[in-house]
Amino acid sequence: MKKVCMISLGCPKNLTDSEELLGSLCSSGGCQIIQDENKADIAILNTCAFIAPAVKEAVSEIKKLINLKKTGRLKKIIVCGCLVEREKEKLKKKFPQIDSIVSTRSLDKINLAIEKNGSYLENSGNRLISPDYKLRLTVKHSAYLKIADGCDNLCSYCLIPALKGRFRSKSMEMVINETKALIKTGAKEISLIAQDSTNYGIDLYGKPVLTELLKKLIKIPKLKWLRLMYVYPDRLDRELLKLIKNEKVICKYLDIPLQHISNNVLKAMNRKSTEKSIREKIAEIKKIVPDISLRTNFITGFPGETEKDFQKLLNFIKETEFNYVGIFPYSKEKGTTAFNLKYQIPDKIKRKRVNLLIDAQSAVIDKINGRMINKTARILMDNTAYGRTFQEAPDIDGSFFVTSEKNLKPGSFVQAKIIEAMGYNRKAIV
Ligand code: SF4
Repeated sequence: MKKVCMISLGCPKNLTDSEELLGSLCSSGGCQIIQDENKADIAILNTCAFIAPAVKEAVSEIKKLINLKKTGRLKKIIVCGCLVEREKEKLKKKFPQIDSIVSTRSLDKINLAIEKNGSYLENSGNRLISPDYKLRLTVKHSAYLKIADGCDNLCSYCLIPALKGRFRSKSMEMVINETKALIKTGAKEISLIAQDSTNYGIDLYGKPVLTELLKKLIKIPKLKWLRLMYVYPDRLDRELLKLIKNEKVICKYLDIPLQHISNNVLKAMNRKSTEKSIREKIAEIKKIVPDISLRTNFITGFPGETEKDFQKLLNFIKETEFNYVGIFPYSKEKGTTAFNLKYQIPDKIKRKRVNLLIDAQSAVIDKINGRMINKTARILMDNTAYGRTFQEAPDIDGSFFVTSEKNLKPGSFVQAKIIEAMGYNRKAIV
């Protein structure tokens, strides 16, 4: 039996690909999945490569595995994911110690790659299919479900359309069956993921049908929390917001990357949104779902971002009070249209702007925290000490340290009183 270890880097979409890869290895037999690469015969590294820091992390993991192989313990290195998409055969030239490379659209070739060294780069067709079986890499009670992959939005700074291809959805039937399968493995919370969840179904049904999909999923027994990640602001409509408001199973939570607020920058980013459309959308969301938890992302230091553009973004963060904000310095990536834009911002200014935005968001968090003290909340325990309310997504948002005289079980829901909140570290008592 070959001992196989998976190292999964990057976003939850990559994680579900890793679960799928392991699933097909388990179904084919002959492999024992282990966690420690120091004890493995074969290491599979699923990489992320959409920005330079992710490439750096992937390369350092490759070097670690090459050193392990030199000890004679590790027999084979297989690299897959976005770095393979970005580099293709060049990756093997750079690191000849890599035995096989597998592209994100050839995951079904993983068993072949285990048996025969080589490059598996051919595109296995444009249809996104559900895996027969996947080996869950998340906690039992919380799972990710990838409903679509690829992207057609072509934001000027983003490599993902080049790495992941055109937007393609899983059929509703597939998503429903996968949801049922996840619930059978103990999932109570399911986070729906894609590059752009709001575009779900456009390729299969001729128009986005995310709301229809949600209406079917919430009827599935034993599903407690359904969470929406990666929504594109301009495709978020009233019907979807009303469904979020009215359906208990759907978390009053939205991950809605906005990237900026200034029209100059949004235009240069090739975003469909404008300052006006974003402000109206946020106001509409908060009107229809007042207790919504909003996560967003902003990029600062984008080519041509003036001090005035930056101040607009800073004030927008201060006044809007997002629950969670990811703040990124613009990363100049070869292969994107923004790569050739003039007026690139010096790193020193980028860093200064990132820090100012982080400070502004910290002040917002202090305000939000102040309002939650002594409130009670329903918390899903992720382990015996930490849990989340519907307002926190797994892995990226804050969590609560929960104390109780009783033993708290992972996957259980508890009613707790919030007693302390400092930044994203909050305390509650049952
Ligand atoms: S929406 Fe834009 S940023 Fe997001 S994956 Fe698509 S192209 Fe990239």
